[in-house]
Amino acid sequence: MTESHIAELATRLGRRDAIIEEPQAVERLSKDFYWYSPILKRLLDDKRADVIIQPQSVEEIRKIVSFSFTENIPVTVRGSGTGNYGQAVPLEGGIVLDLAPMDRILAIESDGVAVCEPGARLGAIEIAARKAGWELRCYPSTYIKASVGGFLAGGSGGIGSITYGALRDNQTVRAIEVLTMEQEPRLLRFVGDEVHQILHSWGTNGIITKIWLALGIRRDWAQIAIAFPAFSEAYDFGEWLSRNDKIRKRLVTIFEWPIPSYFIPVRKICPEEKAIIFCQVDDPQLTTVTAEAKDCAGQVTFAQPYQEPRRGPLLTDYTWNHSTLWAIKDDPALTYLQCNFDPDRVRDQFRLIRARFGNDFLFHLEMVKNDTGRIIPSCLPIVRYRTEPYLNEMIDYCREIGVSVANPHVNQVEGGGRFRSDNRQLRAKYLFDPNGLLNPGKMATFRKVESILAQS
Ligand code: FAD
Repeated sequence: MTESHIAELATRLGRRDAIIEEPQAVERLSKDFYWYSPILKRLLDDKRADVIIQPQSVEEIRKIVSFSFTENIPVTVRGSGTGNYGQAVPLEGGIVLDLAPMDRILAIESDGVAVCEPGARLGAIEIAARKAGWELRCYPSTYIKASVGGFLAGGSGGIGSITYGALRDNQTVRAIEVLTMEQEPRLLRFVGDEVHQILHSWGTNGIITKIWLALGIRRDWAQIAIAFPAFSEAYDFGEWLSRNDKIRKRLVTIFEWPIPSYFIPVRKICPEEKAIIFCQVDDPQLTTVTAEAKDCAGQVTFAQPYQEPRRGPLLTDYTWNHSTLWAIKDDPALTYLQCNFDPDRVRDQFRLIRARFGNDFLFHLEMVKNDTGRIIPSCLPIVRYRTEPYLNEMIDYCREIGVSVANPHVNQVEGGGRFRSDNRQLRAKYLFDPNGLLNPGKMATFRKVESILAQS
């Protein structure tokens, strides 16, 4: 981008303070947690925007988009930059559109729907929802910082998914408003099933400007940590707990040793050499779960009834992709994968992977509900990175034995496992970003030439 581009943008916005050019800030706001992957680290380290723009309204976004379309300038949307496969890293420079200032929670409606601007932080939505008797159905472990727009465009699920499934399931995303990347940007509203053309598209086919998110009924969640001598025993108990419909849960996470050894602040509740389960259950059921765990030879190392405000550790800070963060902090040669085990063959699959890769593949399981309502062991294994071919061998072997893998070491929507086989996201790209200016390079199947032909 040239100086005159930037001057013209400032004129159109009627203010200069929305535009950040200071190199360190540009660098910081061009990055996310892509360095989780040694492969993406190599590929994305030198990528950055020309400028960052922080709009405060849809009207400001419209002015930026219209100008970018005319001048052929790429625009990459950013929420809070906590994505961990470079989703928000601009591959072709241009503008990073930082939506953090658009963070208003517009309403918590009486039927349990949060209406928000895209930059609203999930932690803030959770607080507002709880005050009104509701709570987030599911959220990533980064919820304090992560934005709701970034979660819809880049995330998949998390804490709560054991009850409500993934973000894309059960009409959790009721409706979205989206601005298109065109000369005259259109503000479109998608309701119900229509949202799936934009969800998890990494900001490649429209800019989400408003969100209607269905909430769950508020519960007071107690926390428990239960240690077991062997991973197989921890898995047996975790599977039983997850499938027991009488016990309401927000989290069941199972770690094999030595993963708990990476959790420095809670090391004292993680006995040496033992597998451990971290869970959140409905407060009135804490005593039942504790008793059941003891009956199954589990050692309850931490049991905390619901408290507001909470004192002491928050177990979710060690689950989902936070587990990976603690592991990488301890040993930078570690990284991760995203897998779904087959619930009917899972024990056999554990055995085969251990036989093939030994302790280079450590089991970290998050029990979740899938789109058919079945509880399945989703896995974010901590894996040792030796070489790229070795990592690919792990992925290939998993797939060979029926473990599905959403590869977090690729930087394209199609590679990550949430690309729809009906190609709805790709079709939306042709319709709403015909010149391929939104987060270019991230939707690999989009062809600019075909788009131009279709328009003519
Ligand atoms: P960003 O990283 O800023 O953006 C994500 C993608 O969305 C980018 O492609 C961006 O271009 C696009 N985007 C952002 N806003 C918009 C918008 N308004 N319109 C269109 N596109 C947009 N993810 C999970 O799903 N579950 C987890 O439990 C989880 N745990 C994590 C733990 C750690 C420690 C880390 C580092 C990451 C984790 N993640 C997890 C990934 C990430 O934190 C979440 O997906 C989070 O919701 C992303 O939100 P964000 O605001 O940071 O989005």
